[in-house]
Amino acid sequence: LNYQIDRLVQIIETGANSSISSDFTFVRNFPEEPIWVEIDPDKMAQVVDNIIGNALKYSPKGGTVTISLETRENDVLISISDEGMGIPKADLLKIFDRFYRVDNASRNSKVGGTGLGLSIVHDIVKMHGGSIFATSDGEGKGTTFSFTLPYSSEGAEDWDDFTDEFE
Ligand code: ATP
Ligand code: MG
Repeated sequence: LNYQIDRLVQIIETGANSSISSDFTFVRNFPEEPIWVEIDPDKMAQVVDNIIGNALKYSPKGGTVTISLETRENDVLISISDEGMGIPKADLLKIFDRFYRVDNASRNSKVGGTGLGLSIVHDIVKMHGGSIFATSDGEGKGTTFSFTLPYSSEGAEDWDDFTDEFE
Protein backbone atom coordinates (compact mmCIF):
# COMPACT_ATOMS: atom_id res chain seq x y z
CA LEU A 1 0.00 0.00 0.00
CA ASN A 2 1.23 3.39 -0.89
CA TYR A 3 -0.23 5.53 1.84
CA GLN A 4 -0.77 9.20 1.37
CA ILE A 5 -2.18 11.79 3.63
CA ASP A 6 -5.37 12.70 1.95
CA ARG A 7 -8.62 14.40 2.48
CA LEU A 8 -11.19 11.76 3.10
CA VAL A 9 -14.08 13.98 2.13
CA GLN A 10 -12.69 14.46 -1.37
CA ILE A 11 -12.40 10.73 -1.94
CA ILE A 12 -15.89 10.10 -0.70
CA GLU A 13 -17.33 12.98 -2.69
CA THR A 14 -15.73 11.62 -5.83
CA GLY A 15 -17.06 8.12 -5.12
CA ALA A 16 -20.53 9.44 -4.44
CA ASN A 17 -20.53 11.73 -7.46
CA SER A 18 -19.55 8.94 -9.84
CA SER A 19 -22.46 6.82 -8.58
CA ILE A 20 -25.03 9.59 -8.57
CA SER A 21 -28.10 8.84 -10.62
CA SER A 22 -31.47 10.47 -10.83
CA ASP A 23 -33.01 7.23 -9.51
CA PHE A 24 -31.68 7.87 -6.01
CA THR A 25 -31.38 10.73 -3.59
CA PHE A 26 -27.97 11.21 -2.01
CA VAL A 27 -27.69 12.84 1.39
CA ARG A 28 -24.31 13.78 2.82
CA ASN A 29 -23.53 14.55 6.43
CA PHE A 30 -19.95 15.75 6.40
CA PRO A 31 -18.21 17.80 9.08
CA GLU A 32 -17.04 21.28 8.10
CA GLU A 33 -13.40 20.76 9.01
CA PRO A 34 -11.12 18.72 6.73
CA ILE A 35 -10.40 15.20 7.96
CA TRP A 36 -6.87 13.94 7.47
CA VAL A 37 -6.33 10.25 7.25
CA GLU A 38 -3.49 8.13 5.98
CA ILE A 39 -4.91 6.27 3.03
CA ASP A 40 -4.26 4.92 -0.38
CA PRO A 41 -6.73 7.12 -2.29
CA ASP A 42 -7.31 4.65 -5.13
CA LYS A 43 -7.99 1.80 -2.73
CA MET A 44 -10.28 3.98 -0.61
CA ALA A 45 -12.17 5.03 -3.73
CA GLN A 46 -12.67 1.31 -4.44
CA VAL A 47 -14.16 0.85 -0.96
CA VAL A 48 -16.59 3.72 -1.43
CA ASP A 49 -17.53 2.65 -4.96
CA ASN A 50 -18.24 -0.91 -3.85
CA ILE A 51 -20.38 0.04 -0.88
CA ILE A 52 -22.35 2.69 -2.78
CA GLY A 53 -22.62 0.31 -5.74
CA ASN A 54 -24.20 -2.31 -3.50
CA ALA A 55 -26.52 0.27 -1.93
CA LEU A 56 -27.90 1.07 -5.40
CA LYS A 57 -27.90 -2.54 -6.60
CA TYR A 58 -29.85 -3.91 -3.65
CA SER A 59 -32.37 -1.06 -3.35
CA PRO A 60 -35.48 -0.23 -5.31
CA LYS A 61 -35.31 3.00 -7.30
CA GLY A 62 -36.40 6.13 -5.52
CA GLY A 63 -34.56 5.41 -2.29
CA THR A 64 -32.21 7.61 -0.35
CA VAL A 65 -28.54 6.80 0.21
CA THR A 66 -27.08 8.63 3.18
CA ILE A 67 -23.33 9.05 3.58
CA SER A 68 -22.09 10.30 6.94
CA LEU A 69 -18.66 11.10 8.32
CA GLU A 70 -18.26 11.42 12.02
CA THR A 71 -15.02 12.38 13.74
CA ARG A 72 -14.46 10.50 16.98
CA GLU A 73 -11.70 10.55 19.58
CA ASN A 74 -9.35 8.11 17.84
CA ASP A 75 -10.84 7.52 14.45
CA VAL A 76 -13.27 8.60 11.78
CA LEU A 77 -16.52 6.69 11.33
CA ILE A 78 -17.89 6.53 7.81
CA SER A 79 -21.42 5.19 7.35
CA ILE A 80 -23.32 4.52 4.16
CA SER A 81 -27.02 3.71 4.60
CA ASP A 82 -29.61 2.62 2.10
CA GLU A 83 -33.32 1.94 2.19
CA GLY A 84 -33.08 -1.30 0.25
CA MET A 85 -33.83 -4.96 0.80
CA GLY A 86 -31.76 -5.28 3.95
CA ILE A 87 -29.70 -8.24 5.13
CA PRO A 88 -30.90 -10.99 7.48
CA LYS A 89 -29.10 -10.98 10.84
CA ALA A 90 -27.58 -14.42 10.19
CA ASP A 91 -25.77 -13.08 7.12
CA LEU A 92 -24.38 -9.82 8.49
CA LEU A 93 -20.92 -11.27 9.15
CA LYS A 94 -20.81 -13.76 6.27
CA ILE A 95 -21.24 -11.12 3.55
CA PHE A 96 -17.57 -10.17 4.03
CA ASP A 97 -16.46 -13.71 3.10
CA ARG A 98 -15.19 -14.32 -0.41
CA PHE A 99 -17.92 -15.37 -2.87
CA TYR A 100 -20.66 -15.14 -0.24
CA ARG A 101 -23.98 -13.84 -1.49
CA VAL A 102 -27.16 -13.76 0.54
CA ASP A 103 -29.10 -16.78 -0.60
CA ASN A 104 -32.39 -15.45 -1.78
CA ALA A 105 -33.73 -16.40 -5.17
CA SER A 106 -35.66 -13.18 -5.69
CA ARG A 107 -32.68 -10.96 -5.05
CA ASN A 108 -30.06 -12.97 -6.93
CA SER A 109 -32.11 -13.50 -10.04
CA LYS A 110 -32.48 -9.73 -10.39
CA VAL A 111 -28.90 -8.71 -9.80
CA GLY A 112 -25.74 -10.52 -10.66
CA GLY A 113 -22.45 -10.44 -8.84
CA THR A 114 -19.51 -12.57 -7.81
CA GLY A 115 -19.75 -12.02 -4.06
CA LEU A 116 -16.22 -10.64 -4.02
CA GLY A 117 -16.88 -6.92 -3.61
CA LEU A 118 -17.23 -6.80 0.16
CA SER A 119 -14.35 -9.20 0.84
CA ILE A 120 -12.08 -6.81 -1.05
CA VAL A 121 -13.58 -3.85 0.81
CA HIS A 122 -12.96 -5.66 4.10
CA ASP A 123 -9.32 -6.34 3.24
CA ILE A 124 -8.67 -2.75 2.18
CA VAL A 125 -10.21 -1.32 5.36
CA LYS A 126 -8.13 -3.76 7.47
CA MET A 127 -4.96 -2.75 5.60
CA HIS A 128 -5.69 0.82 6.62
CA GLY A 129 -5.97 -0.16 10.28
CA GLY A 130 -9.75 0.21 10.38
CA SER A 131 -12.69 -2.07 10.89
CA ILE A 132 -15.96 -2.56 9.04
CA PHE A 133 -19.37 -3.91 9.94
CA ALA A 134 -22.90 -3.99 8.58
CA THR A 135 -26.15 -3.45 10.41
CA SER A 136 -29.66 -3.98 9.16
CA ASP A 137 -33.05 -3.93 10.76
CA GLY A 138 -33.94 -6.92 8.61
CA GLU A 139 -35.38 -7.79 5.23
CA GLY A 140 -36.79 -4.76 3.46
CA LYS A 141 -35.61 -2.31 6.09
CA GLY A 142 -32.35 -1.10 4.61
CA THR A 143 -28.71 -1.64 5.43
CA THR A 144 -25.91 0.47 6.90
CA PHE A 145 -22.24 -0.19 6.22
CA SER A 146 -19.92 1.48 8.70
CA PHE A 147 -16.15 1.55 8.68
CA THR A 148 -13.49 3.29 10.68
CA LEU A 149 -10.16 4.84 9.75
CA PRO A 150 -7.52 5.96 12.24
CA TYR A 151 -6.50 9.62 12.25
CA SER A 152 -3.22 11.04 11.07
CA SER A 153 -3.04 14.18 13.16
CA GLU A 154 0.76 14.32 12.69
CA GLY A 155 0.29 13.91 8.99
CA ALA A 156 -2.05 16.87 8.87
CA GLU A 157 0.67 19.04 10.44
CA ASP A 158 3.23 17.73 7.96
CA TRP A 159 0.86 18.54 5.17
CA ASP A 160 0.33 22.09 6.49
CA ASP A 161 4.12 22.61 6.56
CA PHE A 162 4.36 21.22 3.09
CA THR A 163 1.70 23.49 1.63
CA ASP A 164 3.07 26.52 3.53
CA GLU A 165 6.27 26.15 1.52
CA PHE A 166 4.35 26.94 -1.61
CA GLU A 167 2.40 29.92 -0.30
P1 ATP B 1 -19.78 -8.21 -6.56
O1 ATP B 1 -19.70 -7.04 -5.63
O2 ATP B 1 -18.58 -9.08 -6.48
O3 ATP B 1 -20.16 -7.84 -7.95
P2 ATP B 1 -21.95 -8.95 -4.85
O4 ATP B 1 -22.50 -7.56 -4.85
O5 ATP B 1 -22.94 -10.06 -4.84
O6 ATP B 1 -20.98 -9.16 -6.08
P3 ATP B 1 -20.64 -8.29 -2.37
O7 ATP B 1 -20.56 -6.87 -2.75
O8 ATP B 1 -19.47 -8.93 -1.71
O9 ATP B 1 -21.00 -9.21 -3.62
O10 ATP B 1 -21.90 -8.48 -1.40
C1 ATP B 1 -22.17 -9.76 -0.84
C2 ATP B 1 -23.66 -9.94 -0.65
O11 ATP B 1 -24.11 -9.10 0.40
C3 ATP B 1 -24.51 -9.55 -1.85
O12 ATP B 1 -24.65 -10.62 -2.75
C4 ATP B 1 -25.83 -9.22 -1.21
O13 ATP B 1 -26.57 -10.40 -0.98
C5 ATP B 1 -25.42 -8.65 0.14
N1 ATP B 1 -25.40 -7.17 0.15
C6 ATP B 1 -24.32 -6.38 0.01
N2 ATP B 1 -24.64 -5.07 0.11
C7 ATP B 1 -25.97 -5.04 0.34
C8 ATP B 1 -26.92 -3.98 0.56
N3 ATP B 1 -26.54 -2.70 0.55
N4 ATP B 1 -28.21 -4.34 0.75
C9 ATP B 1 -28.59 -5.64 0.76
N5 ATP B 1 -27.75 -6.67 0.58
C10 ATP B 1 -26.45 -6.39 0.38
MG1 MG C 1 -21.10 -5.91 -4.61
